[in-house]
Amino acid sequence: MSERSFLSILTGSFSSPSKGNPTVAMIEAGYKATGLNARYINCDVPAERLGNAIKGAVAMGWVGFNCSIPHKVAILEHLDELAESARLIGAVNCTAIKDGRLIGHNTDGKGFLESLKTVTDPSGKNVLILGAGGAARAIAVETALAGAKKITIVNRKVEKAKEIAKIINDNTDCESEGLEWSGDYKIPQDIDILINATPIGFGDAEALPPVDFESLRKEVIVADVIPNPPKTHFLRKAEERGCKTLNGLGMLVNQGRIGVNIWLGKMLDADVMTKTLRDIFEA
Ligand code: NDP
Repeated sequence: MSERSFLSILTGSFSSPSKGNPTVAMIEAGYKATGLNARYINCDVPAERLGNAIKGAVAMGWVGFNCSIPHKVAILEHLDELAESARLIGAVNCTAIKDGRLIGHNTDGKGFLESLKTVTDPSGKNVLILGAGGAARAIAVETALAGAKKITIVNRKVEKAKEIAKIINDNTDCESEGLEWSGDYKIPQDIDILINATPIGFGDAEALPPVDFESLRKEVIVADVIPNPPKTHFLRKAEERGCKTLNGLGMLVNQGRIGVNIWLGKMLDADVMTKTLRDIFEA
């Protein structure tokens, strides 16, 4: 008879605030469904305690952790290695601990890409991203690395859009430009994929990014990063135009699955994780 183990594999998350982050429920549901003796511990770690939290994780033999606000950039100075896309994005949300070494990854853009590929391959496509924050930056870099032909980033503060465009132009074969977003943005007719990467619509089913929906062709694939509510006003407007849409749940689920795969070499069940999030968001 094999010996039972009462020692779990440890993973988790460092952020602050962390109380409202449902990732723990999603990942532990995935662990359970796969029969893994692993735990994901949601830790509230303020900025000044990140260094000690990392030392604690290494000391306790954690195999990896996610990090969110306010640590995604601050963590860089604690790492021994950086994956290529995390280096280009300039932020890390997933760290693997291997033999005491810390290896930083960014799974936000990869999670989006995995989700996008269920509806279209971005290779050779023209992409328009609304917003130029952390999510936009991760999505732009991964979509460029996946072979997009052109990526246009529009933002109120145009310098942030131009900064992302420069990273893409300097490091990938994709062409990119950053433009100012003022008034209702008219979608150029050569766009294949439109992505809302702003927080507009988060927790508000009526909020709507300023876009001229009359200019949206029905052939455009329209995606939103907002996971809650999954069916945003932006996606409803796109559906009214006849567009195929993609909600932000897939990005959230897939960035979690990709992180676990980096730590444990196992892809968790996406359906179980999606259902867990839906139940939480609809409660
Ligand atoms: P940031 O704060 O880094 O960036 C927000 C961006 O949105 C900025 O470019 C900002 O423009 C723009 N923006 C904000 N409000 C408005 C507005 N009213 N009108 C026009 N532009 C606006 O946020 P993140 O990139 O980190 O996150 C964005 C969203 O993505 C969040 O809602 C987050 O929950 C979601 N997200 C979802 C994930 C998922 O797995 N589904 C993963 C990561 C993020 P400006 O620079 O001009 O201020």
